[in-house]
Amino acid sequence: MTTDFKSDTAKSTAAEISLISMVIPVYNEEANLTELINRCVAVGDALAFDYELILVDDGSADSSAQMIQQAAEDKQGKVVGVLLNRNYGQHAAVMAGLAQSRGDVVVTLDADLQNPPEEIPKLIEKSAQGFDVVGSVRMNRKDSFFRRTASKIINKAVQKATGVMMTDYGCMLRAYHRNIVNAMLQCHERSTFIPVLANTFARQPCEVPVAHAGRSQDETKYSIMKLINLQFDLLTSMTTFPLRLLSILGGLLALAGFAFSIVLLVTRLVYGAAWAGEGVFTVFAILFIFIGVQLLAMGLLGEYIGRIYHDVRARPRYFIHKVVGISE
Ligand code: UDP
Ligand code: MG
Repeated sequence: MTTDFKSDTAKSTAAEISLISMVIPVYNEEANLTELINRCVAVGDALAFDYELILVDDGSADSSAQMIQQAAEDKQGKVVGVLLNRNYGQHAAVMAGLAQSRGDVVVTLDADLQNPPEEIPKLIEKSAQGFDVVGSVRMNRKDSFFRRTASKIINKAVQKATGVMMTDYGCMLRAYHRNIVNAMLQCHERSTFIPVLANTFARQPCEVPVAHAGRSQDETKYSIMKLINLQFDLLTSMTTFPLRLLSILGGLLALAGFAFSIVLLVTRLVYGAAWAGEGVFTVFAILFIFIGVQLLAMGLLGEYIGRIYHDVRARPRYFIHKVVGISE
């Protein structure tokens, strides 16, 4: 039964694809750009579909922007350059590219050639089979041991929080159907982590294994602060649980403080004022209760902030895939 249904959607979706968009954020990548563009164009030309290559310059300080402009002129109608006025970060740049894209399937990848463009047809094939979000898992990752362990922990946490099985959130080589892209474009929050956002709208996600190359030129574009910020984006875009943690912690502390003060009171009555440090212990007991109550109050504020946060993001509550039974 299920297989029948799937192959059915597969057929109808394959027929619907006519244009593929490749969206690439570029930040100080002049060393990689020429090779990147050449390889992407080669891959695109070999596709059975039309394609557009959208390069988003994220306020590069080097000549990346000029190179993108040049490529857009040389390869009119194939290469589109989106130049941001300053550096907004990788995910904001990808969003800008998504907003510009017109493809029925949109593929995102990094500009540093760590995601080989030659893997794109694999993703498109899966997309054509009806999978609306196609992720990728990096085989034999070429990143440092530290980066690998860090992302392993994060991937586990993401899986726990979103409940969606996605092995490799850090890999930006992904393909999305048009309706997923449109849904993401309707999300107006500033801090986004695109693979997670896409997954919240995915109906039928899947993953394919892809090769992963070492950095071909210079170092990562992420400073340690930017990396920390990105992890917080990831965390806060998924859950407001840390805010709730405040209430739980506060409640526990207040309870412990209360219990502790009873113990102190009893021992004071049994052993006398001298044992209780002439009242110092009592002050401590009261202090503990107050600290707990303060945290509890902060947690309560957190509950409100969490809800405000959800509302401010103004994510669409749902996204309609299709309406049937209504004449045009
Ligand atoms: N990038 C960007 N803006 C930034 C930082 C990075 O557009 O502020 C781009 C960068 O050009 C690359 C991609 O995001 O195409 C991933 O960056 P990088 O390869 O440095 O990240 P890592 O591989 O270390 O995760
Ligand atoms: Mg990289």
